[in-house]
Amino acid sequence: MYDVIVIGAGPAGCTAAKILAERGYSVLIVEKCVLPRYKSCSGMLIKKTIDLVGKYFGENIPVSVTCAPAENKGMIFTNDAGQEYRFEQRGLNVWRSAFDYWLAGLAERSGAVLIDRTAAVSCDMQEAFIEVKLHCKKKGNYTEKAKYVIDCEGVVGSVKRKLLQSAGEYITTYQTFNKGTIALDFHYFYAYLQPELSEYDAWFNVKDNMLVLGVSGKDASKISRYYDRFISYMEANHGLQVYECLKSEKWLMPHVSTGCPIEYGKERVLFAGEAAGFLNPMGEGISAGMESGYCAACAIAEHFDDVQNVYAQYQEKTQFLRNYMMRQWSFVGNLSGTFQHMKML
Ligand SMILES: Cc1cc2nc3c(=O)[nH]c(=O)nc-3n(C[C@H](O)[C@H](O)[C@H](O)COP(=O)(O)OP(=O)(O)OC[C@H]3O[C@@H](n4cnc5c(N)ncnc54)[C@H](O)[C@@H]3O)c2cc1C
Repeated sequence: MYDVIVIGAGPAGCTAAKILAERGYSVLIVEKCVLPRYKSCSGMLIKKTIDLVGKYFGENIPVSVTCAPAENKGMIFTNDAGQEYRFEQRGLNVWRSAFDYWLAGLAERSGAVLIDRTAAVSCDMQEAFIEVKLHCKKKGNYTEKAKYVIDCEGVVGSVKRKLLQSAGEYITTYQTFNKGTIALDFHYFYAYLQPELSEYDAWFNVKDNMLVLGVSGKDASKISRYYDRFISYMEANHGLQVYECLKSEKWLMPHVSTGCPIEYGKERVLFAGEAAGFLNPMGEGISAGMESGYCAACAIAEHFDDVQNVYAQYQEKTQFLRNYMMRQWSFVGNLSGTFQHMKML
């Protein structure tokens, strides 16, 4: 019997596990993929994320998890009317597989037990504990018990959906990695909000000299049309020339709707990160994942024996994070008509 089982070894899960383990709680992290696992991501760590890594993990981010160019100088954002805004701020460009694996290693070093290739299937509430059904390719089905569960399983959240018996709303993302040339500064992340290019946002960034071009939308059937238009736009406006497409991938993101609703959990199962719906504009979710994982861990650590209070404490502790998220979305709503429904009154 563990004190806490954490589902998912992404930024939210690793942070939650690290905080609880270093405070002396017995923690199991289960990760369904083989670690280091792949995660579709632009891999931009904003300054806030870098500071959170220092605060929660007490370490500097190693060069080994970065990709070229390692330094990111900020974001250049084009709104739906074609107006450009520059946000200068130093950040880092990382491969998520390496970055998340490094975080998982730090959680493990603090005493958390980490098991990969093992998916949580469901959480069954019992009187004094939660029974977590697991599926491991090698071991088959088995169960583990814990007093609390922090569900950090990311966007689709199959365990969460079973618990709440509801389906989430998603944005489909599509990005390609290319050999080619373009007349843009590789140190910036570029986001485009023109409605003809994307239903959400389109983006360009560089990872290890590969030109990454992506689009996103609520209606997955429109993605290829948006992508073709985005390529033509980048060719016409920034001299894009693609010589070879090396890789393409589709993924999902939570659809953040007006008022930024968050699902905090159910009884002694707390949701954190994307599983809860934490996601900032332009898909910046690593900082919110880490902060919500931290809040979930603190709510449990500070009220371990006061089961009835933990859920409410978690809600209270993340209020600042939800407010931050709402302000960020409102800010983007003020800059671009695409997100005007997100403006706070
Ligand atoms: C195309 C794209 C670009 C992005 N770019 C950026 C960016 O540049 N910067 C940024 O800050 N954010 C970015 N994001 C968002 C960011 O990736 C997420 O918000 C962040 O990863 C959320 O962290 P998390 O820990 O909640 O979930 P995740 O990182 O998704 O981790 C969840 C983990 O849980 C595991 N898992 C899932 N189900 C189970 C299960 N049943 N049992 C066990 N394990 C399970 C998964 O395999 C995964 O390892 C981007 C997202 C996308 C799609």
